[in-house]
This record gives sequence, structure tokens and C-alpha cells, in this order.
Amino acid sequence: MESMYRLEKKEAIRRLNSREEGLSPVEVRERLEKFGRNELSEKNKRSPWKILLAQLSSVMIIILIAAAIITAFIGEIRDTIVVLAVVTLNTILGFSQEYKAEKAMSALKRLSVPKVKVRREGKTVEISAVEVVPGDIVILEAGNIVPADMRLIETSNLKIQESALTGESEAVDKHSGIIEDKNPALGDRKNMAYSSTVVTYGRGTGIVTATGMSTEIGRIATMIQDTREGQTPLQKNLDQLGKVLALLAMGIVAVIFVMGLLRGEDLELMFLTAVSFAVAAVPEGLPTVVTIALALGAQRMLKKNALIRKLTAVETLGSVTVICSDKTGTITENRMRVTLLEMAGRRLDFGKEDEPDPESLPEDDNRALEIMLTGGALCNDATIKPPVQKKQQVDMIGDPTEGALVYAAYRVGIEKGDLEQAMPRVLEKPFDSERKRMTTVHAIESDPKGAVAADVPEHLREHGIEKYVAFTKGAVDSLMEVCDRVLEGDEVHPLDEGWKSRIVESNNSMASNGMRVLGIAFRPVEESEVESETVEERDLIFIGMFGMMDPAREGVKESIVTAKEAGIRTIMITGDHPLTAGYIAASLTMIDDRSQVKTGRDIELLSNDELDRVTASTSVYARVAPEHKLKIVGSLQRQGNIVAMTGDGVNDAPALKQADIGVAMGITGTDVTKEVADMVLTDDNFTTIVSAVREGRTIYDNIQKFIRYILASNFGEIWVMLLGPFMGISLPLAPLQILWINLITDGLPALALAVEPPEDDIMKRPPNPSQQHVFANGGWTVTLIGLIMAAFSLGTGYIYWLGDSNGPWRTMIFSTLVFSQLFLVMAIRSRKKSVFRTSLRTNKFLVLAVAGSFLLQLSVIYIPFMKRLFSTQHLGLVDLIISIALGSAILWLYEIKKALSARRRS
Ligand code: ATP
Repeated sequence: MESMYRLEKKEAIRRLNSREEGLSPVEVRERLEKFGRNELSEKNKRSPWKILLAQLSSVMIIILIAAAIITAFIGEIRDTIVVLAVVTLNTILGFSQEYKAEKAMSALKRLSVPKVKVRREGKTVEISAVEVVPGDIVILEAGNIVPADMRLIETSNLKIQESALTGESEAVDKHSGIIEDKNPALGDRKNMAYSSTVVTYGRGTGIVTATGMSTEIGRIATMIQDTREGQTPLQKNLDQLGKVLALLAMGIVAVIFVMGLLRGEDLELMFLTAVSFAVAAVPEGLPTVVTIALALGAQRMLKKNALIRKLTAVETLGSVTVICSDKTGTITENRMRVTLLEMAGRRLDFGKEDEPDPESLPEDDNRALEIMLTGGALCNDATIKPPVQKKQQVDMIGDPTEGALVYAAYRVGIEKGDLEQAMPRVLEKPFDSERKRMTTVHAIESDPKGAVAADVPEHLREHGIEKYVAFTKGAVDSLMEVCDRVLEGDEVHPLDEGWKSRIVESNNSMASNGMRVLGIAFRPVEESEVESETVEERDLIFIGMFGMMDPAREGVKESIVTAKEAGIRTIMITGDHPLTAGYIAASLTMIDDRSQVKTGRDIELLSNDELDRVTASTSVYARVAPEHKLKIVGSLQRQGNIVAMTGDGVNDAPALKQADIGVAMGITGTDVTKEVADMVLTDDNFTTIVSAVREGRTIYDNIQKFIRYILASNFGEIWVMLLGPFMGISLPLAPLQILWINLITDGLPALALAVEPPEDDIMKRPPNPSQQHVFANGGWTVTLIGLIMAAFSLGTGYIYWLGDSNGPWRTMIFSTLVFSQLFLVMAIRSRKKSVFRTSLRTNKFLVLAVAGSFLLQLSVIYIPFMKRLFSTQHLGLVDLIISIALGSAILWLYEIKKALSARRRS
């Protein structure tokens, strides 16, 4: 829709076949069909075919397919069939896992689509951003990401940051007038809002002109569409490791190949051996398996209210050393109720009950009280749905702090709806967490309806306010900066030092009892000021303070203890008063002395070194502005910490980006914070962060376990193949046996290790070192474990071979190696606990996988046609038992190691 910006807004609405009250469901459906969903087409989306193709085009599979073709040419159809069967099985297994992971990830992505407020048939409803259609009336608020291109039809201090589109990082002031210029640059179309830009301030309403790929961002979407994630550190580690092992394998393959030929082995046999060996030695599937484990882990985390937006987060969570959390709503419940009113010289217990209870108010003159409650309800963007029955919960829409004020007024019979008719808002200066206050200006109607609504203008007139009144509410300290008078009953006094210290004292006494305190003030406003369309916060008359209770959430205290035991520091960062913060922190045993609270101002001017010293020991920060959060994260990171940081407001985005794990609030958070976050808490609850860390550690643990398992098994085969010839056994394992071990018998148990439950001590040990290679101090261990398994299987085979060189010596090597791998997986399950004290019930997949692999192995030894395929020989019962017993050696060795280190620990 070109040049919508040049049209009168009514005309724009008409052209788009819409109305100010919005579209009807039928129109929405039609438009959805005609214009499609409001999303940018995803180029990198992986269809099942793409996944399959990727599977089939992996180096390993290509080598195998090549081998199958060559063996077919040579006439070894038997080998061809087996190789192809192995390829097929492996592909099915790999594909189904990867497909599942892909589905899990795209489900997570879908959940991250922002919600949008639109007006449809006169009602404001919340829908998913993808359901927005041209002609929809969209409501924009600070923190929203603009969901589609739109012509603005109403704005109030609306500022939009359009860097996604124009590269300009300064937010642009928007309006709803006409633009005369014929072809203004995108950045100059001040009456338009464009998809993917960010509302940083104010409010507005717009009518959608274009959605999806037809938007301005859609046109350049190809440039920004590379949404593919980079590799996680773990995957990078593994890639490197894979390369090293590949080179090593090439060398060994060459040696085996040449040695074999020199000894006069058959060329074809040596070829197949080399191929199988290469497949065995190169763990090239590992990065994929890691992705799968991370993605499925992320899916599990969602069930525990943590929505992972970036896979790296799963891994990083395990290394978190500090959690910086907001207070309001994350640590506390955010179910705010006004429990105390404090007017100059008068304190009123407002009760704790939920039902309206006006009797508790004094009978005497309540004029100041009415002005105060009116101001609280009007200087306010929240609304409540009054309870139908007594004792029922009130439904609040908007910020809970503001909702509490609307409800407080409602309890004494002052309804916000009536007030708004009597005193409609004409101007406003929205709340932001830097100023910590908000102002609205209201016109006073001459003939208002409703008793109380009529009273208030009357009271205001007594103070000489005829046409316009401004209400400012906010943190008391911040409010006092702009007040110069104070209301006491009906009298206005200058706000001298005496009054100031009395107010500060009251504020402190409320805050130190854990209350969140909000002050309120008013003043007359001149017509000229309204016409200038800006309101200044100055010369205000202080009325009083609201005290609100917001108790800590259940379980937070325990979670903080859990985090502490896990070597993680919890830091509370809040915009609230230091005394309120101190009270809550002390009740959660985060600090033992309330004077340990630092404020934003305390740290503002510190040098890096000084700041680092403060952040090293401070657990509670109050009166913090978003830029302080950034400083705190930076300082903690300089000291080597891995920081998880929560945030909900528009200005929190930079701090979330800077943190190692940016955590956004699913319920109260803004789109912008969700967009930059690595993780979103769907329940806004602090305890969810701690459970996510636990989950992250578990996943990392399991990944480490299956990497160890797979590599140890591979080393086992490598050692067997490498050492065999030195003992005179030129080919200890037949090529297809190698493939069998690799792709069947150790694949299944490895996958099952990915779903191991957390170990008992998972939150009792320090965070995973973040820079550590996944393989740190594990490299020698796996080589050694491989060597031990090789020694037992090769040794057995050697003794059998000495006994009868035509006997089943090779089958003994083969089986012993397979069995030892199955014992190894059982031993690896737990890092410290004995196998005999680890329940089998906690991972039934593993039991099934081990049992399945065992049966498969028996089938290769005992089913005639399998025997032929895999060149095995029949094992007698005694031989089988010997093979199993020797295979179990690795488990016993592990048991001894675990027992020894347990003794050392105790
Ligand atoms: P947290 O960072 O823990 O979520 P917070 O929500 O208290 O803390 P802010 O939203 O920055 O942090 O609020 C800071 C202060 O601003 C509050 O203590 C309160 O006094 C004041 N305040 C909060 N909301 C409003 C509002 N809607 N209007 C006016 N003042 C407000």
C-alpha cells in the first residue's frame, strides 16, 4: 500500500476497507486467506526431505554407499546387502531422531511469536502476531515489536526505534497527521510504523497496511533472514575433535591397509576393512547427536516453564555462576494490594481483605483521600474487572502495581470508568524506569456523571483547579524532586525540610516493612501547556503515599539455597526502594544485614576496579536503572562469571544481550526483551531459572557421557585393529563386524544415555567450567578404557586362536568387544555411584537398548543366515559365558575406581 502516509487517517481506514472499531471475524478469515499469514518466509527451514538428504550426504554414508557399489561390482553381493542394510538402518535411526529434534525446535520457535493487541469488532483482543491481517487496528505499547506495516491513526508520545529498517539507532517521534512530501524516505514517514521496528516509548494505534513478505522488512528479508544459529561451543569442540580423529584415522587406515597388503591379504578384503575402519574411527555423527540432545532437552525444559530460544543456552545454563534477578514479579508474586495509605500526617490501614470495604475508612472529611485515590486510578494504564461475587479474585489488565491502585479506588466506590468520563486524559508522560514516575493531564468536564466522580472536581476547584489537572505518581524520592508543596487536609503548605523529612521517614518505615511505596501529587495545568502538547513535571503538590504488599513467591527461598549449594550466587536487582529490597532479601536469607544493599547511584561513578570490588560481594541492588544493570553484568563477567540476567522492560534489552543467558518474562515481559533473550520464563518465576540450570547441567552431563561412551567404544575397535597384527592376528574383526558394532550395537545405548535422569549431586557440585573442552581430562580416560576393552577381547581371541586357529576365535573377539561396550554403558551411567546402587527403572530406554543390542548380538552368533552375513561362528554356552564375563571386566574396573574415589572423598 503505497503513500498511505499522504492520506487523511479516515481515508486510509476507508481505503483498507476497515473501521476504527476493527474487522469482523469473517473479514479476518477472508483476508487471512487472501494475504496469507503475517510471517516472513523462512528460507532455512528444514523440510523432512532436506533432513534426509543431509543424512544421506554425510561423508560416512557416502563412503559406505561407495563401498556398497564397489562390492557389488566385484561380485560380493552379500557384502553389498549388509552394507546397504546398515546404511538404511542408520539413516532411519538418524533421520527419526533429527526430525524429532527439528520438530521440537520449530515448536519452540512458534511459541516465541509475540502476541499483539488488536481491536476487532470494538473489542481489544490479544492474538498471535502471525494472525494480523491488513485492515486490522493494532494497539502499540512501549516494548512492542511492531507486527506489520501500519498507518498510525492515534499516538501519544509514541517513539519508535527503526534501526532494523533504516540503521538509525535513535528512536523517531511518531504522529498520526498527514505527510505532504511526495516521496519521503522511510525514516521520514513519521505517521507510519513498520514491521520489526521497536516501540521504545508511549502508545499508539495503527491500521495495518501490509503484512508478511509485503512489508518493508519483507522486501529486504532475504538480507536478514539468516536465522541459522551458530554452533554451540560444544559442537565446535566436537567438530575440531572430529577433524583430529579423522586425520588420525586416515593415518591408521593407511598403515593397516599397507601392512595387510604386504602380508599378502586380499585387496578387496583390505579395501572393505579400510572403509569400515574409517567409519568406526571418525565420530562425525557426534555434532548432530549433540544437537538432537540439546533440542530434545529444550523440549523437556519447556514443560518446566523455560522456553529456550537459542540452543546454546541449554549448554551455557550448566555453567552459570551468577543469577541476577529482578525482584518484582520474579522473586515476588506481583499480586499487589494497597494495604496502607499515608497522607500528610494521617495514616490509614487499608486492610488486607480483597472485598470492597469502605466502612473501614473514617467518617470525617475525606476530600484529600478522594483526590489521592482518584489520582492513583487516573494516572494509570491498568483496568480491573470487578469481582462479581465477594471474595472472588479481581481480574487486572496491565501492570499489577497500577492495577492495585485502581482496585484501591474501587474499594471505596470510586470507579475508574466513571472517573475517565468526568476527567478524560488529554496528555501524558509515560512511566519509565529511569525517572521512576509518570504523569497524566486531565480535562475537568463541567457536568460529570456519578457521585464520587462529581465530588472530585468539586474538591479540585477548592484548590483553584478549574479546567485541567495533572497527576504525577512514582517512587517517593523521585516524586519529591518535582514537588514544592504538600497537601494536609484541605490546606496546602510549602514543602519545607520539616515536611520532607517527615515524608521520607514515613516512606522508609513503610519500605522497611517490605512495602512497595508509590507517592502521588497533583497541580493545576494551564490551557497553554495543554496546547503545547507537553507536560512538565514541576511545582507539584504532594498528596500522599500508597503502601503495597508484594510477598516473595513460594519456593524462592529454597531455590536460592539450591543455587548456593550448586555454587551459584543469586543477586537481586530492583528498581524498588533499598529498604523494600532489603526487607525481601533478608526474608529470603540473601543478606543478613539490610545495610548491605547498594543503590544504582552508589555504583554509578565507580571505576571498573572499584565496581568489581563492589559486585564481588553485593547481592542486592536497589533503585537501579537499566543502564546500571549493564554495568553490573559487565563487571561480573570481567571477574570470570557466567551470568544469567532477567529483564522485562524496554530498556533491559541491552543488559539481556550482554548477559551469557538473557532471561525474559513470558507474562509481563516486553516483546523486545523476549526477542533478545536466550530463555523465556513462561511463568515469570525465579525458581524456574534454577530448575533450568539443573536441566542444563543434566543435559550437559549426559552429552558428556555419551561422547565418552562412543569415543571409548571407537578406541576399543581402533586398538583391536591396530594391535591385532602385532600379535599375529592380521584382521581381528571382519569389516562388516566393525560396521555392526559401530552403527548398531553402540548407537542405541548411546542414544539412551541422552535421557539419563540427573545424578543426585547435580546441584551439589560447582558449575561446569565454561571454557573447558568437553573432553577435558577425558581424552586419556577414553583411550585407556578403549585399550582395556581391546586387551580383554583381543586377549581372549588370541588364546582361542592359539588353541584352534580354525575355531571361533574371531567371534570371541567380536562378542567380547560388543559385550564390554554394553557393560561400559552401564558403568558410565553414573559418575560416582556404583552400578548396583543405580536403579534400572530410571532409564528404561537404556535397559531396552542394552537388552536389544544383546539380543541382536546373539542373533549374529546363532542365526545361520546372519552368521553367514557377518562371518561368525557358533559359540558354545561356555564360550558365550566366558565372553560375557570377560566383557564385564570393564564394569568391575569402573566399580573399583568409583569405590576408590568415594573413599578418597570421604
Ligand atoms: P524490578 O526491577 O525488580 O522489576 P521494579 O518493577 O520495582 O523492580 P521499576 O519498574 O523500574 O522496577 O520501578 C521502579 C520504581 O518506580 C518503583 O519502586 C515504583 O516506586 C515506581 N513505579 C513503578 N511502576 C510505576 C508506575 N506504573 N507509575 C509510576 N511509578 C512507578
